Amino acid sequence: MAVKTDAIALTPTWEAYTGYAETAGPFENQVLYAMCRDNPAHGDPYVTAGKITAIGRIYAAAPERGAGSGREPGSLSQAIAVRLANSPLDDRLNAIAFAERFSKANIGQIVEAHRLLVQEVALATRGWSISGDDGAWSPRNQASFASKYLHFHRPNAFPIMDSYAKAGLACAGLKGPFGTYEQFCAGIARHVEGQDLSWTPRSIDTHLVIRGRAHLDRTGSLCRQCGVEFVRRPRKAKAVVLNSG
Ligand SMILES: [Zn+2]
Repeated sequence: MAVKTDAIALTPTWEAYTGYAETAGPFENQVLYAMCRDNPAHGDPYVTAGKITAIGRIYAAAPERGAGSGREPGSLSQAIAVRLANSPLDDRLNAIAFAERFSKANIGQIVEAHRLLVQEVALATRGWSISGDDGAWSPRNQASFASKYLHFHRPNAFPIMDSYAKAGLACAGLKGPFGTYEQFCAGIARHVEGQDLSWTPRSIDTHLVIRGRAHLDRTGSLCRQCGVEFVRRPRKAKAVVLNSG
């Protein structure tokens, strides 16, 4: 138990995420952290829609990407926000204490909250988009957006997933696949094994993105970080399996 207490004592506070460049990274991150600290809940779609738009656009992961056109004038962020107001997302987030660092103990809760958000985004998108009229159409899997959105609500718990971070894990010598958030989180768990407890999902992301950019840089034939010979694989959007309701 002592180890767990120490680990919690070492995680940054909201004050650090909203006031210190060393913890937050670029200033826009401080703004997004403060937005989620001050407006943590999902009961008011007006607020939630703004959080979705701000995080999605600053992180170039907006759910509008690949969503087609809406049937009504309202934004997709608004449609997602209305769904989230009636979802158990706040319960899932409240079950993870702010100070709780990502670990093998809470990875199940983290993956489950992420799965819920991806599902809600997909269902909202299908209902919002004209493309939803085509029964064969599936909204794009917004796993990267969901990881970023949840990260700003619980920055000590949720790792940020995108193509650079995945490439960074591969570059660091971890065996994939890292296609799903669950697989990605398992990779992060292996990556941080044995590291001293000063790491955060943000610090890991910063390191992995730098590494991943080098790993994906195809100007040479070898990665200048890990030395691996490059194999180019086409990126493919994955479909989301929708539950009814
Ligand atoms: Zn590499």
